[in-house]
Amino acid sequence: MARLSALSADYMQGRRAGTPDAARARAWIIRELQSIGVSPLGARYESPFTIRSRRPTADTLGVNLLARIPGRRPDGPVLVLSAHYDHVGVQNGLIHNGADDNASGCVALLAIAEQLKANPPEHDVILAFFDAEESGLHGARAFVAALPIARERIALNVNFDMVARQDRGAIWVAGTSHTPMLRPLAELAAKNARIPVRFGHDTKDLPRGDDWTQSSDHGPFHSAGIPFLYLGVEDHADYHQPGDDADKVDPRFFHAVVDFAIQLVQRLDSALPTIRRPAQ
Ligand SMILES: [Zn+2]
Repeated sequence: MARLSALSADYMQGRRAGTPDAARARAWIIRELQSIGVSPLGARYESPFTIRSRRPTADTLGVNLLARIPGRRPDGPVLVLSAHYDHVGVQNGLIHNGADDNASGCVALLAIAEQLKANPPEHDVILAFFDAEESGLHGARAFVAALPIARERIALNVNFDMVARQDRGAIWVAGTSHTPMLRPLAELAAKNARIPVRFGHDTKDLPRGDDWTQSSDHGPFHSAGIPFLYLGVEDHADYHQPGDDADKVDPRFFHAVVDFAIQLVQRLDSALPTIRRPAQ
């Protein structure tokens, strides 16, 4: 909760991509990674890319943060954990702090990283803090378009976006209808969860907006043929509103989601070499 409050504090000014506020959020995330002892994936954490505007003169710079936790088996399959750190900034003079969207996913990634440092994974884990999700999944698109490692090695993306609000009392896991073999793995992790875990929001027959396959940074991975799981809650009254603040988060719910996510990542790590999406 301390991390959630820090990353969604007013002085972050809503972390809009391309602003000094996003740079402040990045500096905070890098300090956390360093204090946990997680090294950059490459020479540095920052991986800049161009956010293409409809008017080329209005192009801006986005910056993803990429870190790596080495597994015990080098050169094997890799798990990419992701969360976007940008949000929608200040609108009509009101700061949109984005505590749930998506300071919560970033904090979940940091908690998982701490756990993986204490209990090293079998396979390499990449931590991706994506920029410019809100304006069109730009950070994830840039990552997938210029992968830092061979495409064949990326077995799975697990994306976290809005994982802290308990309004509807459940965490959703989307993606298993695209890669059904992930369902029993996630169900095993869900057995010990202290919150209800629901599966779905990933089929075409749903009403418009209820299929979340392309609704966050896992979308570009899916389009590239990479299996994904997405963890998130249903939209709530403060979704993209100035009221998406840390004090609206139930610490017990958030803690339970993070504990479930840790269990899930451990099971996925063990199964990583077997994970395949069926031909579509
Ligand atoms: Zn989001």
